[in-house]
Amino acid sequence: MLPENMCFIERDWLSANHVMFCDGDSATLIDSGYGKFNDVTIEKVDAALSGWGHPSLDRIVNTHIHSDHIGGNAALQRLHAGCSITVPVDEQPALVNWDAPEQMLTYADQEAERFAWDDVIEPGQTVSLGGESWQAIATPGHDMGSLVFYSAKLRILISADALWETSSGFVPPQAIDPEPLAAQRATFKRLAELDVALVIPGHGPMFTDYSGALKRANEKLELFATDDLRIAKNVVKGMFIYSMMWRGGMPVVDLPAYVARIGVHRDYNAQFFKMSDEGYADWLLGEAVRASKVRIENDAIVSV
Ligand SMILES: [Zn+2]
Repeated sequence: MLPENMCFIERDWLSANHVMFCDGDSATLIDSGYGKFNDVTIEKVDAALSGWGHPSLDRIVNTHIHSDHIGGNAALQRLHAGCSITVPVDEQPALVNWDAPEQMLTYADQEAERFAWDDVIEPGQTVSLGGESWQAIATPGHDMGSLVFYSAKLRILISADALWETSSGFVPPQAIDPEPLAAQRATFKRLAELDVALVIPGHGPMFTDYSGALKRANEKLELFATDDLRIAKNVVKGMFIYSMMWRGGMPVVDLPAYVARIGVHRDYNAQFFKMSDEGYADWLLGEAVRASKVRIENDAIVSV
C-alpha cells in the first residue's frame, strides 16, 4: 500500500502513530509519541531504520504539539546526533509559553519533555519527504496550529488528529473558546477538496474511505456542536481516562484533591458541572468505570 521508502507505525491510543520516510541515507520521522513510552518509540523507530539499512534519523517533524505527538522529540534527538526538530510555524508561541493551559500538559495532567526546535513549516509549504513533494496544509480546530501532509501524486494524506476513521481530535466547548469549532468545520471543507486514496491518521489504522470518514467526523462534530455540556463531559472524561492510563491509576481517596488540583477538571467543573470536588470526583470515576476504562480494586482506581 505504501512506497518502500515510507513506513507507517501504528501505536495505541496513548501515543500518536508515526510515519517514517527514507531518502538515501537520511530518514525523517513524523510525530514522536507520548514520553512515558519512549522506550517503545525508540525500539520501533530503530526497527524501521534497520529495515532500510540504517539511514540516520536526521529530522523529526511534528504535526502539532499535543503531548502524544511530541513526547519522544527530546529523547530521540539525544540518541540521534544532528537530528533536527521541525514544528508548524503557528505552534511557536505555544512552545515559547511552554505548558500554557492550551497545550493541555500540566493543565490536563499530561507530561512532555521540553525540546528546542530548529525549523518551522508554514501552511502551503512543500516539504520533501522520502524524495516526494508533500504539501503542508493548515488544519486548525482540534489544535489551532496543526498541519497535515498531502501528496497529490501518491494520493496519501497524513491527517494527524484533524481526521480519524470515525471522528477527529476533540475541540473544546464553545463557551471556553468558539474559534476551534468554526475552524474545524472549515478544516473539513478544505480537506474535502483533496483527492485522497489513503489516509494515515494520528490514531488508529490506515484507511481508504476518505469521503466516508469526512462525513462521519463532520456529523460527530455537528452533533456535539449543539451541546457544549456534552463536549465538556467528553473532554474531562477523555483527559481523566488518559491520565489514569499513563499513570496506571491512583487511590480512590485521592481523587477529590486531584480534580481540585488539575486545571481542566477544576475549571470545567466550575464552569459546566458546578459540583463539589467530591461529587465531581464520584461522577467522573463512575463515567470512567461505565466506559470500562478503569476499575476499582482494593480502594484504588486501576486503568483497564
Ligand atoms: Zn492532538
